[in-house]
Amino acid sequence: MPSVEIIAVGTELLLGQLVDTNTAYIAQRLAEAGIDVYGSAAIGDNRGRIAQAVRGALSRADGAIMTGGLGPTVDDLTRDGVCAALELDTELYAPALEQMEKTFTALGRPMRANNRKQAELPCGSTPLDNPNGTAPGFIAFARDGKFVACMPGVPREMKPMMTEKVLPFVRERLGSGNGIYTRVLHTIAIGESEIDHRIADLFRSCENPKIAVLAHDFRADVKIMAKAPSRERAEAMIAPLQAELERRLEGYVFGCDRGTPASAIHHLLQERKSMLAVAESFTGGRIAAALTSVAGSSESFAGGVVAYANSAKIALLGVASATLERAGAVSEEAAREMAAGARTRFGAELALATTGIAGPGGGSQEKPVGLGWLALDDARSGVLVRRLSLAGDRETIASRATTIALGMLWQHLALSP
Ligand code: ATP
Repeated sequence: MPSVEIIAVGTELLLGQLVDTNTAYIAQRLAEAGIDVYGSAAIGDNRGRIAQAVRGALSRADGAIMTGGLGPTVDDLTRDGVCAALELDTELYAPALEQMEKTFTALGRPMRANNRKQAELPCGSTPLDNPNGTAPGFIAFARDGKFVACMPGVPREMKPMMTEKVLPFVRERLGSGNGIYTRVLHTIAIGESEIDHRIADLFRSCENPKIAVLAHDFRADVKIMAKAPSRERAEAMIAPLQAELERRLEGYVFGCDRGTPASAIHHLLQERKSMLAVAESFTGGRIAAALTSVAGSSESFAGGVVAYANSAKIALLGVASATLERAGAVSEEAAREMAAGARTRFGAELALATTGIAGPGGGSQEKPVGLGWLALDDARSGVLVRRLSLAGDRETIASRATTIALGMLWQHLALSP
């Protein structure tokens, strides 16, 4: 199977001062084009190590795609490293020199001798014009025909060069004519390990399409990836697997491809013609922020209160001071009263309330950090309550509680409309 390796050049990458977004971008474009990436590396600004990385990449793969280190300064050594690896001299690429002269004249700045270096490319290479900067890219060739495509490090310059020049070249050289087509099933209210348990056999047996489970934002997505010559063919391959996955994960898949828990909730509330209100304590407005991130959410979301102090719970939501004294602010009773108060005060059909201890202080043996209560008050069906016991720092606990609350709401709306 033909493949390439990606090499990002820059000492900044090794010092952790710069996040290597170029490799991610290049890897994504290659994946979409159905081209395998055998490996990737980050290398410092050192001629010998760049040469070594290029030799290593070409010993394993059919080509290397590099970014960074093409500039005019002494630490820009990609060209020299590639020349050393491929045993090539450089030659002047006149159009790049002319282009650079024009740019410097327009800027009213003198062009230095070191800028000239940027127009010197490995002999026999194909130059890649850079309309967004001064350093041209190039594709150099080894004696055995393997290639090294070099692009500038600046993402704004690299991205168009990758999509418009390098990708078409690589596709023609190595492409199988296939692309990678994906479908993402978004789940909520189910853990990664439970998903794994339910689909492990498919996970193992499926080659094309392939399945991957991706955890993020305290929930998980299941990705189906098909390698096929067209979207239609890919769709036909994906459809039966998607149906099987949806069957096994019934009650947890809130959407596919685009879509968020909040947008799924918005649509279900609209179908029901119901308005929702929220009363938030330890989630600090995160639920309201998620719900209002959906365009048109005023049709399903009435409003919310962040009632943090006991006085706010009493004054704004009508929680009884006796409840707070007896059971405390972090209790099932308080959560129920907060939800009931939000529902009546906002004139909504449903209200969701959260109360808990996000930490790091405020915990006790009886009520530790991470303890929380969710209450969902639905005028049609009554109150649902859930006790939470969450691990993590303050932000993690609040964010996790937000996802669980959105999951509880979505499941309630989806399963008992
Ligand atoms: P140019 O000559 O066009 O400036 P260059 O090839 O010399 O480009 P570098 O000097 O290596 O590029 O990097 C320039 C800047 O580009 C870096 O300071 C950084 O902001 C960005 N950059 C470089 N490599 C990467 C990378 N792998 N991922 C994200 N950004 C990068």
